[in-house]
Amino acid sequence: MATINITAPKPMVMADLKGKVDPDWCPGCGDFGVLAAVQKALVELQIPNHQVATVSGIGCSSNFPGFINTYGMHTLHGRSLPVATGLKLANDDLTVLVTGGDGDGFGIGCGHFVHAMRRNINLNYFVLDNQIYGLTTGQTSPTSRIGMKTKSNPYGNGDTPVNPITLALSAGATFVGRGFSGDQKHLVELIKQAIQHQGFSFLDIFSPCVTYNHDNTFQWFRPRVKKLEDNPEYDATNWVAAMEKATLWGDEIPIGKFYETTEVPTLEQTEPVLDAGPLIHRDLHIAPDVARKFVEELM
Ligand code: SF4
Repeated sequence: MATINITAPKPMVMADLKGKVDPDWCPGCGDFGVLAAVQKALVELQIPNHQVATVSGIGCSSNFPGFINTYGMHTLHGRSLPVATGLKLANDDLTVLVTGGDGDGFGIGCGHFVHAMRRNINLNYFVLDNQIYGLTTGQTSPTSRIGMKTKSNPYGNGDTPVNPITLALSAGATFVGRGFSGDQKHLVELIKQAIQHQGFSFLDIFSPCVTYNHDNTFQWFRPRVKKLEDNPEYDATNWVAAMEKATLWGDEIPIGKFYETTEVPTLEQTEPVLDAGPLIHRDLHIAPDVARKFVEELM
């Protein structure tokens, strides 16, 4: 009788998540810290990389899927969330991470951002917020501060910046947090909590652009960021308290988990089409050659 050696699968390590190309971000860019934190969170949660898909829009940070060894899709500017929604509805076994920048997510993609949150689809949206358009060489973005001088506003930005945290809370996100690329340990924990949350989780992550944003630098953030977790009285189930903390800016900028509720059903739970399981495991009810022709037309 043949002997079969059954060995336990090897635990996933950081090297397993290294992408096929190295990041081409500028040396010192905050995005490096976010990439490392996402990889570390996946390793600590031991989510196999074949069960993870990373979806992005356009921008420096949206090159993310190329730099991590998971399934990945680099989509259109501002359109990562609708693509990720389709992906999640087709295969809700997957952990779907959506990554991009503040211009991509809060500018052209802002409508999708709001609607994905109110649907409470089980996506993890991580915005690498550098308060500027980096890829296009330094224009004012939706989160640039008032008065900031950029290539597109040489006399200073006159527009009130978007507050991503109050926006997410208002739109119905069921997990809302803020991280900082310069605090790896804290960011890894936050990402792990966001991934484990059932429903739409949103993290606004300060990820300084060292080339074009000379205002909101690592040095500027370091003394200002204060962890919500350091206040034992802070209750992250209290939506009103979260709103109050979200309006703080200046000498004290809170980071951490602002809000979480598990009382809202996810889209996957309320969508009757998914009652029989993920679409990917279901019969398409069309002949394979017809399906193949259809896919070929799309390629
Ligand atoms: Fe990072 Fe800014 Fe360079 Fe883009 S331009 S890679 S955001 S430092």
